[in-house]
Amino acid sequence: MKRILITGGAGFIGSHLCERLMAENQEILCIDNYFTGRRHNVAHLMNDSGFELMRHDVTFPLYVETDEIYNLACPASPVHYQFDPVQTTKTSVHGAINMLGLAKRTKAKILQASTSEVYGDPDCHPQVEGYNGNVNPIGPRACYDEGKRCAETLFFDYHRQHNLGIKVARIFNTYGPRMLPNDGRVVSNFIVQALKGENITIYGEGSQTRSFCYVDDLVNGLIKLMGSPESFTGPVNLGNPVETTILELAESIIKLTKSSSKIVNQPMPQDDPVRRRPDISMAKKNLAWQPTVQLDEGLDKTIHFFKLLLSQ
Ligand code: NAD
Ligand code: UDP
Repeated sequence: MKRILITGGAGFIGSHLCERLMAENQEILCIDNYFTGRRHNVAHLMNDSGFELMRHDVTFPLYVETDEIYNLACPASPVHYQFDPVQTTKTSVHGAINMLGLAKRTKAKILQASTSEVYGDPDCHPQVEGYNGNVNPIGPRACYDEGKRCAETLFFDYHRQHNLGIKVARIFNTYGPRMLPNDGRVVSNFIVQALKGENITIYGEGSQTRSFCYVDDLVNGLIKLMGSPESFTGPVNLGNPVETTILELAESIIKLTKSSSKIVNQPMPQDDPVRRRPDISMAKKNLAWQPTVQLDEGLDKTIHFFKLLLSQ
């Protein structure tokens, strides 16, 4: 049995990861400051003696014993990471330094939840890991994008300087149950609006694209990456390569929810990437990983979750 630390473990992706690793009989220490995470997300795991939940902010050092660290702590939705941008950068950068320090002391393997946002508004399509990105360093998304880029730098410097075992996943848009209804991300926004019969708010014309990965697929990828040979560090793209316009996403959600909602157009936020699709050749080759859940199937499961939530 391994002792596994998951930072941001009470969040959307973190709670699914906790659940999956608990099913593999691992010992989990889940830490979270509950900024966007909820104790409720992991409440069903609390009765298991292998699971421990602790309130902790990763911007402060942590002294525990661990064999593996998944570093997920960081708000992921633009609305939430722009709420307190200075704290967002601190979470990414100080959080990485603290968790890397812990990994160095305990000789633990450490995985960073990085992001497709390191590519910014990409002028290379689809995005390959060798592309260095097009990020505005002073815009409203920079606290997140540059924070995550600096965290990647720290991971590779700890690897080169201290021989630390690292894994870096560049996660593309992921969706599924346990997203927050007021999260501001497109899938949760559209589903909640459709279920409430409210207008569906498309920013811009809806021609911008994203590629949506169901959370179970993503979690499989993270676990495969952690288990990959020591020589494979990444950064590796993890995401679904099927590209969808935001307008197509809105239309699918209206159809699946049988909603009477109307689409309205609102101004496009600053620095909103125009196109995003992962090239996942590296993950296929090195991790034998690719997503298996189709968009409609994943949306159905997510709609089911929000229906229950809204009926409570
Ligand atoms: P989320 O907001 O649901 O989860 C983040 C978790 O981190 C929350 O539980 C939050 O309370 C916690 N947290 C935030 N700041 C913290 C701090 N200082 N100390 C301790 N805990 C803190 O978001 P998510 O979608 O589950 O994302 C998880 C990770 O994956 C994030 O690092 C995010 O950047 C990355 N990621 C997610 C996506 C996506 O589409 N969901 C895409 C790319 C990268
Ligand atoms: N978006 C939208 N309406 C919404 C929320 C988001 O049109 O109510 C758009 C947003 O402008 C972006 C895309 O959907 O082009 C994805 O946004 P999200 O915040 O989910 O993620 P990110 O921009 O970080 O990929």
